[in-house]
Order: sequence, then structure tokens, then C-alpha cells
Amino acid sequence: MKRVAVLGGGPAGAMAAAGLARAGLPTVLLDEKLAWEKPCGGGITYKAYRQYPFLLENAVPKKQIFETRLSEPRGGSVSMRLRHPLVIYSRRDFNQMLLDRAEAAGAQLEKERVLALEPRENSWGIRTRHGVLEADFIVAATGARNTLQSVGTEWKPGDTMCALGYYVPGTRAEVDIQFFPNFEGYVWVFPRCDHLSVGICGKGVAAQEAREQLHRYMDEHGIPRTGATFYAHVIPALERPSWRSNRVGGPRWLAAGDAAGLVDPVTGEGLYYAIRSGDLAAQAILHDGVEPSSRHAVYRSLLHGEFLEDLAFGAGLAKRFFIQEIMFSSVPARMIELMRLSPRMRDIVQDLFAGTQRYLDLKDRLLANLNGTLQETIYGALLGHRVAGEGTQA
Ligand SMILES: Cc1cc2nc3c(=O)[nH]c(=O)nc-3n(C[C@H](O)[C@H](O)[C@H](O)COP(=O)(O)OP(=O)(O)OC[C@H]3O[C@@H](n4cnc5c(N)ncnc54)[C@H](O)[C@@H]3O)c2cc1C
Repeated sequence: MKRVAVLGGGPAGAMAAAGLARAGLPTVLLDEKLAWEKPCGGGITYKAYRQYPFLLENAVPKKQIFETRLSEPRGGSVSMRLRHPLVIYSRRDFNQMLLDRAEAAGAQLEKERVLALEPRENSWGIRTRHGVLEADFIVAATGARNTLQSVGTEWKPGDTMCALGYYVPGTRAEVDIQFFPNFEGYVWVFPRCDHLSVGICGKGVAAQEAREQLHRYMDEHGIPRTGATFYAHVIPALERPSWRSNRVGGPRWLAAGDAAGLVDPVTGEGLYYAIRSGDLAAQAILHDGVEPSSRHAVYRSLLHGEFLEDLAFGAGLAKRFFIQEIMFSSVPARMIELMRLSPRMRDIVQDLFAGTQRYLDLKDRLLANLNGTLQETIYGALLGHRVAGEGTQA
């Protein structure tokens, strides 16, 4: 192959470019902004830095958070110390680190907006303000607002959730997650090195309504908006049927990260999937045993082997988790109540935070632990004790 063009230089594009360039393929990465403060919490799970230790072992400023608090109006609050910290970056720093890595591997980085794609028989023309660039293969990593309509996920109504928030001066030692009754989403407070990323994501909710909900939360928790910077974006949250028809690749193109809809539909975690899919896209393109025009099939099967099925299953779970009621209370409220009393339940939530609990296995694990959890809960309730060392607040 003479040249691969990676469109978009977020985590997905930067990882793909690094993998391709390291293997010696001439690789050009085009991003209209290069490193920027992309609206995001910036939280990296254990699952991500366990697989890619460089995400933790580097000199870039970051915050490692062990303390978390989960709350729901009817379930109260529960605090938990994470076994594996959540690592929180500013996205500008994080993207810059990944772009530096791609450049060091030999990728050519260009600050350019891709305006249009021109498919040729065995190649692509990539139109920018400065002309048309030729490439044999492309990786579309242009994020959730991909405007290149011939590649990547074809969004259907209901396949995204709104996400908005504020970068607020100040910092703290604890991550806060707040659920609300009948609300498919949550508020987060993620401490970064010198500011907080405070935001809300919600599916099926108008941005204005979500913003008002967030304002109420910030007012109630004494988080000021003066001096804070507003941000808004969308998070892919594919409905279950959309996963079946999801367009992750085609002849001589692959889509990675948000442009391929690869985000956890329950938590909104996208950074791991962007990084992993960027890496897998590079592996698929480098797969010499298959014609370039068929390498999208290799990519799809790599994604399938890892997480496509789990994310699709998670899409079915999301609504039930956020909206379904169990005995007049929401699932998050019941989860918080159980966490106060049952170490087994806390173990499960630990793994959900770490990103290591597959949705496909969650039901079996919950059922397998149900007896023990119920026993712990009943004893806990009868004896009125809490899990050792953990704070609670009804
Ligand atoms: C508010 C919010 C909070 C979030 N919090 C978290 C979190 O805490 N943890 C987590 O894991 N995930 C989080 N996510 C999800 C995460 O931000 C995304 O999944 C992740 O950024 C996806 O990476 P990407 O490389 O696919 O896309 P992006 O990071 O969006 O990168 C796409 C890049 O493409 C460029 N681009 C787009 N179009 C063009 C074009 N035509 N020409 C040239 N360049 C172009 C853009 O400039 C951008 O740099 C959050 C998302 C939102 C919206």
C-alpha cells in the first residue's frame, strides 16, 4: 500500500496512525484541530490502562482517583474506595500525548479539515481546502459528529445521547456520580489536576432539560458556574437493532471510535473503545493475507471477538438499568442500597467501574451472588451494620 489516510486525530485516529506508521506504512493523519479540549470527562478505566500501560505510565499531568460516591434521591448515597483508580486527564493533554506517539512512530500529522471523500476504483481522493490527497485506504476516526456520510455509523434517531457540562476551577479528591429517577443518564463530577469536569449525559432528553437538571445539581452541591467554561457534545448510544446494521467498515475503509458508534451504552465510556478500535483497525489494515478491499471483514471479526456483542447487549440493558423500577424504586437506588449492605454487590460495582465486568455475564454473576447478597443484606439490615470502612448516607 502506498498510503493510508487517518481522518481525525482523537484517541481512535491517533492509535490507528501509530500502529500503521510503526509497521512502516506511509500514514498521514488529518485533523482540523489536532490536540484540543474535546468535551469529555476524561476518565480512563482500569481496563484501558491494564491493556495499554502507557496510558498510566507517562509524564502527562493526570489525576488518579480512588474515592467515589454514588447517589440517587431515593437510594441515598454510598461511598466506595476503588481497587483500581480512575485516571482522569484533560483531553487536550491526553490527545497531545497520543498524537506525539503517532508522530514519533512516523505518522505525518496535518492540521486540515476533510471536506469530502471521492471514492476511486482502488483508492480514495480526500478533499481538503488545499486540494485532493490520494490514499489507498482510509480510517474514519472523525468522532460522533462525523460529517463524512459515506463512511462510519449511519445514525438513526435515538442512537445518541446528549452530553454537556462545565469545566469548573478547583479540584477535589472524589468522583461523584448522581442518578435521577426516570432519567436515562447521570451527572458526573470528575476531578482533574486543576479543575473539575462536571457534566450530565442523558438519552431521550433535550439538551436544555439536561442543562437545567445539571444546574439544579450544581446549585444544590455548591458548585459555582462563575468562571466555569461550558461544553456540549453528543455521545453515541446505539439502540440494540442499530448494532446489527452498524457500519464499521467497507471496501478500503474502516471506522474507529465514536465514528463507528463504539461506546458503552450504559456508562458512556468511549475512550477505551476508541483506543482499542484504533489499534484493531491498524492490525486489520496490516493483515497481508487478505485483499485490501476485504480487510473490513477482518476488522469486523476482530471487533466481534472483543466487544461488539457485549456493547449490543449493554444497549438492551441500559434502559432497564436507568428506567425500570424494582419494588417502587429505581435500579440505581436499589444498587446503592445493596452496596451499603453487601460486599458482593460492591465487588460487582468495583468491576463495573474498572470496566472489567462484561454485560453478557452480569446477569449470571448477579444471580450467582444473589443468595449471598440477600443473606448479607438481611444480616446487614438486622444487625444494622455497614460494610467495614465505607461511608454511607441515607
Ligand atoms: C461530555 C462527554 C463526556 C465524556 N466522558 C468520557 C469519559 O470520562 N470517559 C470515557 O471513556 N469516554 C467519555 N466520553 C466519550 C469520549 O469522549 C469519546 O468516546 C472519545 O473522545 C472518542 O474518541 P474518537 O477518537 O473516536 O473521537 P474524538 O475524540 O471525537 O475525535 C475525533 C477527531 O476528529 C476530528 N474531526 C472531525 N471531523 C473532521 C473532519 N471532517 N476533518 C478533520 N478532522 C475532523 C476532530 O477534530 C477530533 O479531533 C465522553 C463524551 C462526552 C461528549
